[in-house]
Amino acid sequence: MGHAEETPAPGRRRVRPARSDLRQAVPTDQAIRAAVAAEQVAIERLLSRLVAAPTVLGQETRGQQVMRRAFVASGLEAREVRLDAAALRAHPGASPFSWEVAGKANIVADWGTHRSRNPRSHGERSGGHSLVLNGHIDVVSPEPLSLWSSPPFAARRDGEWLYGRGAGDMKAGLAAMVGAVRGCKRLGLEPLARIQLQSVVEEECTGNGALQCVMAEPGADGAILLEPTSLEVQTAQVGVLWFQVRVTGQPSHAGEAQPGGNAIEAAYPIIRALRELEAKLNLRPPEPFDRYPHPINLNVGVMRAGDWPSTVAAEATVHCRLALYPEQRVAELRRLVEDAIKLATSAPELQPFEVAVDYDGFGCRGYALPDTAPLVLAVSRAREHATGTAAEPFPSTATTDARSFGLYGDTPAVCFGPHAEGVHGADERVHLPSVLETAQVLALLIRDWCGLGAC
Ligand SMILES: [Zn+2]
Repeated sequence: MGHAEETPAPGRRRVRPARSDLRQAVPTDQAIRAAVAAEQVAIERLLSRLVAAPTVLGQETRGQQVMRRAFVASGLEAREVRLDAAALRAHPGASPFSWEVAGKANIVADWGTHRSRNPRSHGERSGGHSLVLNGHIDVVSPEPLSLWSSPPFAARRDGEWLYGRGAGDMKAGLAAMVGAVRGCKRLGLEPLARIQLQSVVEEECTGNGALQCVMAEPGADGAILLEPTSLEVQTAQVGVLWFQVRVTGQPSHAGEAQPGGNAIEAAYPIIRALRELEAKLNLRPPEPFDRYPHPINLNVGVMRAGDWPSTVAAEATVHCRLALYPEQRVAELRRLVEDAIKLATSAPELQPFEVAVDYDGFGCRGYALPDTAPLVLAVSRAREHATGTAAEPFPSTATTDARSFGLYGDTPAVCFGPHAEGVHGADERVHLPSVLETAQVLALLIRDWCGLGAC
């Protein structure tokens, strides 16, 4: 499918079109694809700069500076949306956090606002729909470093792949959304409805960065989160609960140890009980998660325990992640977790121990948008204009910031982005042709969802 070329009628003198005519001159698929392709070097350069900023939790600032400069260099005004600990803690969609967030900021840039008074939608020039383009700047730790073939925070290019922590999840998405804007601007076009670009913090631990944008900024008719989805549309996702189980006993000399007095070993039956809960949660997955044999995953991600080889371990803390379906509430899953742990600790061998459960980090619900939602169809069609094939909707067994827009911002949200491999693993990499295609799909979506007109 494509848009007809605008050709002047034969035999008529070509005149400079009036402003109102320019507005209707819809650029073709081909023109948009070419204009975005001309930004390929800029997109890859930005991606490399972003990968070089080691934006693990607490160190997001350098990456946000790169995004601010990228917005400004693309002719946009950038500003901060600072995290507000008190406001977040008062919001039902926020995840608990024990660390300092003062000084942390999302970077946002508005495009097309000067003609659109109503911030939500429908600028005076348009019947177009408003849009949020969102990416997260934070990345997970690259440990263990020994498994990487090259330093994780130095972008390494090998053929069509770019390697580095965050290359796929999801700095390529941030670079693609800037590329889409630059491509449209290269054609002298701007959106007929409001677009807000957001680079947010804390997607990998709480989702509170995106939530702060949802709280502080106007909603939109749609939000695209540029997660690596291999150019398909992610319409549903599970929620995620983080919890920490602390097992405490009495330290003693290993030579005098009573069998069963060790906090590390006391954690085993607790983990087994959590695995049983996980199995139950996977018995009858609801739609659309029933396509997966095991959509709800428990991860025992961190264990901190013990102090000395000749001292019986008196303390063990196990950090876990467990998923929940969109129908479930976080409080309900917390209860199930606590019940499972209580049952395990009632065994006689665990009597010498104190067992406590804490919540720090993710406590968020799942989210699902119908596959027939206008936003899903629009993204799918834009992908067809860009690549010749429509995008397939799919549910994810991970969580993303999309939920905050959908659940608390009255803004339908999907994830769409490039093809990446090894996310959260060693040698994470993104396929560069898919990054350009993502930018092209976004530019085509902007044309068809928001409308594009002359600057
Ligand atoms: Zn991500």
